[in-house]
Amino acid sequence: EISKPGNFITQIIDKDNESGKHGGNVMTRFPPEPNGYLHIGHAKSICLNFGIAERFNGKCNLRFDDTNPEKESLEYINSIKKDVQWLGFEWNEEPKFASNYFDQLFDFAVQLIKLEKAYVCKLNADEMREYRGTLKEPGKNSPYRDTSAEENLALFMQMKNGDFADGEMVLRAKIDMASPNINMRDPIIYRIRHVHHHQTGDKWCVYPMYDFTHCLSDAMENITHSICTLEFQDHRPLYDWVLDTLGTAHPQQIEFARLNLNYTVTSKRKLKQLVDEKHVEGWDDPRMSTISGLRRRGYTANSIRNFCERIGVTKSDGTVDLGMLEHAIREDLDQNANRAMAVLNPIKVTLTNYPEDKQEIFTVNNHPKNTDAGTRQVPFSKNLFIDAADFAEVPPKKWKRLTLDSAVRLRGGYVITCDKAIKDDNGDVVELLCRYDENTLGVNPEGYKPKGVIHWVSATHAVTAEVRLYDRLFNEAAPDANHEGKTFLDFINKDSLVILTNAKLEPSLKQAEKGKGFQFEREGYFCRDLESEGMVFNRTVTLRDSWAK
Ligand code: ATP
Ligand code: MG
Ligand code: MG
Repeated sequence: EISKPGNFITQIIDKDNESGKHGGNVMTRFPPEPNGYLHIGHAKSICLNFGIAERFNGKCNLRFDDTNPEKESLEYINSIKKDVQWLGFEWNEEPKFASNYFDQLFDFAVQLIKLEKAYVCKLNADEMREYRGTLKEPGKNSPYRDTSAEENLALFMQMKNGDFADGEMVLRAKIDMASPNINMRDPIIYRIRHVHHHQTGDKWCVYPMYDFTHCLSDAMENITHSICTLEFQDHRPLYDWVLDTLGTAHPQQIEFARLNLNYTVTSKRKLKQLVDEKHVEGWDDPRMSTISGLRRRGYTANSIRNFCERIGVTKSDGTVDLGMLEHAIREDLDQNANRAMAVLNPIKVTLTNYPEDKQEIFTVNNHPKNTDAGTRQVPFSKNLFIDAADFAEVPPKKWKRLTLDSAVRLRGGYVITCDKAIKDDNGDVVELLCRYDENTLGVNPEGYKPKGVIHWVSATHAVTAEVRLYDRLFNEAAPDANHEGKTFLDFINKDSLVILTNAKLEPSLKQAEKGKGFQFEREGYFCRDLESEGMVFNRTVTLRDSWAK
């Protein structure tokens, strides 16, 4: 692990270890809020936090940051656990919940009140905004700021006991209404919410705010390095203030640049909107940037980890090309996926000189470079399917496929020559009458040269399948940038899913394990859909990048 390249965070930790700052311990955490499914941006944070723990022989906690019960659910908690495990990481002990600490957090708030560092404030939301000031103007002190500690304590207990309605009052930290950092202008640390919580039930009707909860949860878990994205840089003074004021352990908050991917949205709110408004089939729709969507699309955990490794960790925001993620899975599957033949848009081929009752079994390599992948049996007969795109009556220049009166090799089989194209009433070719050359199995024909190699399946043995051709969900590089009067929904790629219901697969694919990647020769990488019964295959990625400029 140490041989992996470091980054500015591993350098900070190296220095801490040299100086003995945290006694040589390294403890990180990954702290999702269970208000949606994890996406590829979270994968970056997971790889970073768990990766650092591995590198330094430390541990990484999985902590659910569950302080907004209305938006959270057990479904999300379970999906998050599954995705972290699937990515190949093991969290320390049992998963933690911020809600495990509600009692301690309440006590910490009481301590702040006793220190005269927190007060109950009855300004309503509009007044609060007005008093807060702006970036240019300092705020004004709340009229409740000088209430005595006794009175605040009594009010806070009443808040806890349910004597007040939602929004009637809040508990605020008493810091500095003139601070140039608006986060320091007496931020709210507790609010009243009469709602059921998925972990604590109806025990609480006051819930702590993120900024108060997060730093103290880190301190209570003895986190040494609290790694978060850049938007929390302005919250760091508050993180430090809470811990310094309460005199707890003091983890170091370190910010890094979040992952932005073009042609993609990575915001739980927007992903949820895509699901709720049925622009996609669900959180695990193979076009989603969620981990569960990528998994169902056929991405391997390895390819996602390699991608996260390659994009690196920096302190300045940028956008990564989606092509890099696609490259990572193409590379993985090129090395590791078995090959198979699948005809996506079939037309019939009849070999006029092949005996009616004959059939042969060809033994074909599963992988062109890796002999360990072994071989498989592919049946051959008089009646075949080839792809409609592999025949042209009037071929363009440099045509390397089948046309009238010319020859191609069938992959792993014979050379055939086309004599006649039979058409339906619309003039579409429905069947090709061809001849095979019986002396060409594994050897070149004498006296003529086939134009190319095409894939095929035996019609007698083929398995019919549904094949879902997925493509990028957005056809605009920056779908959630500011576009005059448009939202990200206006850039959904209408061709992001094309369903073919009559694909013909070689029979070995009948046994294909769900989720396992195959290269369908000349077509791309595919895997059997995790969620469907029967023969349904998803296209993970094409063989080449068709979006590259
Ligand atoms: P979203 O913005 O999608 O709602 P979030 O930041 O609110 O995500 P959390 O559940 O709070 O989601 O995130 C858990 C962790 O993942 C946080 O530490 C957060 O900084 C990190 N994270 C979220 N999005 C990204 C991203 N795009 N790149 C890197 N890390 C991310
Ligand atoms: Mg959040
Ligand atoms: Mg966020």
